[in-house]
Amino acid sequence: KREAEPGILEGLNTEQYAAATAEDRAVAVVAGPGTGKTKTLVARAAWLIREKGVKPSEITAVTFTNRAAEEMRARLERELGGRKAVRGMTIGTFHAICLGELEDARVAGPWETAELAGEVLREQGLRSAPGTLLGEVSRRKNGLPGENDIPEEVCGRYDERLHSAGLLDFDDLLLEGLRRARGEKRQSRRFRHLLVDEFQDGNPIQYELALAWNRGGESLFVIGDPDQSIYSFRGADADCFARLGEAFPGLRQVRLVKNYRSTPEILACALPVIEKNPGADRALEPVRESGAAVRLLRTESPLSEGIFVAREIARQVGGVDMRSAGENRGEGTRSFDQFAVLCRTRRQLEALERCLRRDGIPCVTAGREDFLNDRLVRGALAFFQSLVRPADGAAVEAALRLAFSCPPDLAAGAAAVWRGTGGGAEARRLAAAEGYPQVGGLLQWLELTERFAPRAAREKPMHLLREFAQQMHWEGEALEGLLNTAVFHREMAPFLENLTLGREGDVLRGGGGSYEAGYVTLMTLHAAKGLEFPVVFLCGVNRGLIPYESERRKADRAEERRLFYVGMTRARDELLLLAGEDPSEFLADIPPARLELGEAHRRRERPAEQLSLF
Ligand code: ATP
Ligand code: MG
Repeated sequence: KREAEPGILEGLNTEQYAAATAEDRAVAVVAGPGTGKTKTLVARAAWLIREKGVKPSEITAVTFTNRAAEEMRARLERELGGRKAVRGMTIGTFHAICLGELEDARVAGPWETAELAGEVLREQGLRSAPGTLLGEVSRRKNGLPGENDIPEEVCGRYDERLHSAGLLDFDDLLLEGLRRARGEKRQSRRFRHLLVDEFQDGNPIQYELALAWNRGGESLFVIGDPDQSIYSFRGADADCFARLGEAFPGLRQVRLVKNYRSTPEILACALPVIEKNPGADRALEPVRESGAAVRLLRTESPLSEGIFVAREIARQVGGVDMRSAGENRGEGTRSFDQFAVLCRTRRQLEALERCLRRDGIPCVTAGREDFLNDRLVRGALAFFQSLVRPADGAAVEAALRLAFSCPPDLAAGAAAVWRGTGGGAEARRLAAAEGYPQVGGLLQWLELTERFAPRAAREKPMHLLREFAQQMHWEGEALEGLLNTAVFHREMAPFLENLTLGREGDVLRGGGGSYEAGYVTLMTLHAAKGLEFPVVFLCGVNRGLIPYESERRKADRAEERRLFYVGMTRARDELLLLAGEDPSEFLADIPPARLELGEAHRRRERPAEQLSLF
């Protein structure tokens, strides 16, 4: 029976309600996109606190991104009437929660791991890129087969160097967390009630972590959708639901079938695509009323895709100053933040971003790796990391080496002195000592440390980084990328942590434009998981891109199909698919009658009867 309760539980349908309030030891909600899984998970946390009187400090919710964690906390605070009601509840990604458990651990920033990998490769006389070694190390730590012929010893050497500097990498964090959780006699009370979103994308270590954390606990609640499993290349294993059934023979399974997100038109295009994959029971019933037809637009080139997207957004928003197409002004009522532009690869994002910016459309792009490959960016980040953690010898050493080109022995010596005295006088003496050819770097480091240290915790990362770059006479596109990412942060320490622990969808890059009306989101299909937008453009639905094929890796067609499905099901009201001259084979799985065909941007219009899918 349902009691009269205000708020989030009241809005749930019968199945969602049953899941949110289940008293079983273990509950798995397995359901398709937009069926309210995440909503149900949040409702359950609220129910535990409000109805069951569970202390927030005895609840942990695991999200896939840090952004999702923040949103969940905000939603719960609204729901339960303020900050205090949620205080003490743990909400975060597996990585962030592990870091919280391992108090004295320090995770190497990506700027440090890349540098270290480069050194190890040089030392071993190998010519591979640092990223290749890092990828290989990560695959091994996750028990995946190697992808290239980097010898075992080289990976081991990297680990040795990392650990001897007192650092963990992203994967170590989970392994250490698991070791800790298993070693504990009694599991910490904060995991008594454990809730996990996007369970289908957990890798085996995360699966073990969830079980170890919740050992001896009261309830485990996991939600997910095997059809949206898109991280098998990182070791995710959608069979985790079956394994959970073995671990908990009394596992309560709940299915949700009503889709509240998308129009029937969108679902009618998305479902036939996923149905080509093996698997049964994909019932997904639209709750929403009929809306606009899904559009498939043919484009001449990636550039014409960008031009079309920019114009279409401007048309729907209305009032944008359209320098090149003034005739389209003032038509719509949407705001910029209602649009997402999704594509398969990061490279496509760059071209799209340029097109939108050129038309004055404010946009924000998710992802980070491009600028982190830059030496200056790494130097700047290492420097501020050392200011944020002055007692951390490895951070100080990294700053000296990366930003001030100090040779390793000098950097190590200076860092040791610095750590011993916590100040500049001794280090200055060391700098003045003879025998070091690069004392200039050391002096500059001291000067800039004295200048920035008192401000690092107070001023905005963007101001600090910009001034630092000026002082160093550094400039370049990558540094601009870093500044455009820093824009989204108020404090340096969380900014650095975001770059270190953030998932793809967490690290945002913006800049330019007037932000008042929000911005269009550009992201890869991977980063879009769990999100929803009123209007979604899916760009580059072409052969070679979807499914994605590269020389190194043959396409995993089933997974690519899931990825495409994830992308399509992000849309609430309107879905626009853009394809070039050689469209993706997946488009052939959409019933043609469900698609409205058109041309995106052409110098010469073609008569409608000449349009066809292939
Ligand atoms: P995904 O698999 O993409 O992560 P999901 O199953 O987690 O999707 P949610 O994001 O929780 O789905 O919900 C999708 C949308 O449907 C949200 O806008 C949510 O507010 C809405 N929704 C879910 N359940 C209901 C409901 N019972 N009544 C009204 N709206 C709902
Ligand atoms: Mg969700």
